[in-house]
Amino acid sequence: MIAEHPPNRGLQDLQELRVEAEESLAAVNNREELQAWHNAYLGRRGSVTRLLRRLGELPPAQRPAAGRQANTLKVALEAAYEIQREALARRERESAGEVRSRDRLDVTLPGRPVAQGGLHPITQTLREMKAAFARMGFQVYEGPEVELDRYNFTLLNMPPYHPARELHDTFYTTLPGLLLRTHTSPNQVRLMERLRPPIRIVVPGKVYRYENADPSHDWMFYQMEGLVVGKGITMCDLMGTIRELARQIFGPDRRIRFRCDYFPYVEPGLDTAVSCMLCQGTGCRLCGGTGWLEAIPGGMVHPQVLRSCGIDPEEHTGFAFGAGPDRIAALKHGIDDIRRFYANDLRFLEQF
Ligand SMILES: [Zn+2]
Repeated sequence: MIAEHPPNRGLQDLQELRVEAEESLAAVNNREELQAWHNAYLGRRGSVTRLLRRLGELPPAQRPAAGRQANTLKVALEAAYEIQREALARRERESAGEVRSRDRLDVTLPGRPVAQGGLHPITQTLREMKAAFARMGFQVYEGPEVELDRYNFTLLNMPPYHPARELHDTFYTTLPGLLLRTHTSPNQVRLMERLRPPIRIVVPGKVYRYENADPSHDWMFYQMEGLVVGKGITMCDLMGTIRELARQIFGPDRRIRFRCDYFPYVEPGLDTAVSCMLCQGTGCRLCGGTGWLEAIPGGMVHPQVLRSCGIDPEEHTGFAFGAGPDRIAALKHGIDDIRRFYANDLRFLEQF
């Protein structure tokens, strides 16, 4: 009996109507459908409007409660309609400006770190060495890496068929007399032809030798040769210069050892070693157990070399030396394999 009672029936209709209206509103996809939905429920002939009109048919005692329910439904559906209308409008705006919204700048995102480069360890060492020489009053000159045989050998007291040429495993080009320089000395000759004593120069650059790469040799490496020519230049000046360079690059604690050696374009030749920075001279793997690391060979310029450059050896004397930036960088940082410098392994390079 109760289920058949008109007011209950009316309230039940209200609940069903609400569920139905909300479901169909959620399915609306565009403005036209939204308008049709509004007409069907909230329009002048819509279901909700008609229901409200029928409230008058209820017994007077039940009208207030039913009226409140119906009004609540109407307000709720009006609100839901507004929300859906806003959502549709926003979707339309976004699809019109789709590209723009994808590129939109989100200022709340954390910044991307800027990848910062650094100087290569060899470049760092080169710069330190140039600065050290500049403080001693040297000028820095650079020359060609593809060189004439004449400058690379002949003018350096190594005429054709001279056995010393065998010490240099040379890369020759297909053009006769043209090769990749095996040392930076040819640039010293070029400068001696141009400059007149007093000369105080260093010539840094890459040199090439056709040899098997091993931990202390590579087929391309840097040299930085120095040359001083003037009146009364002696072996003492050479030793003082090398000592000062070693002090500035390796620090004041390194000991220096000088020994005689042979190089074709100097007489006498000087072999220089610094005390091993890894074992402090007691002997280790880096220094091969000797406690010494050969670093900066040099010597007094051979009179024949001076003469071939048009300098009278009776009037002027000079000294020359070679400092290998790769080797010096390796000694400075305790690197046991110079090939690491050019292997382009960032894990290695980022340490400097
Ligand atoms: Zn050592």
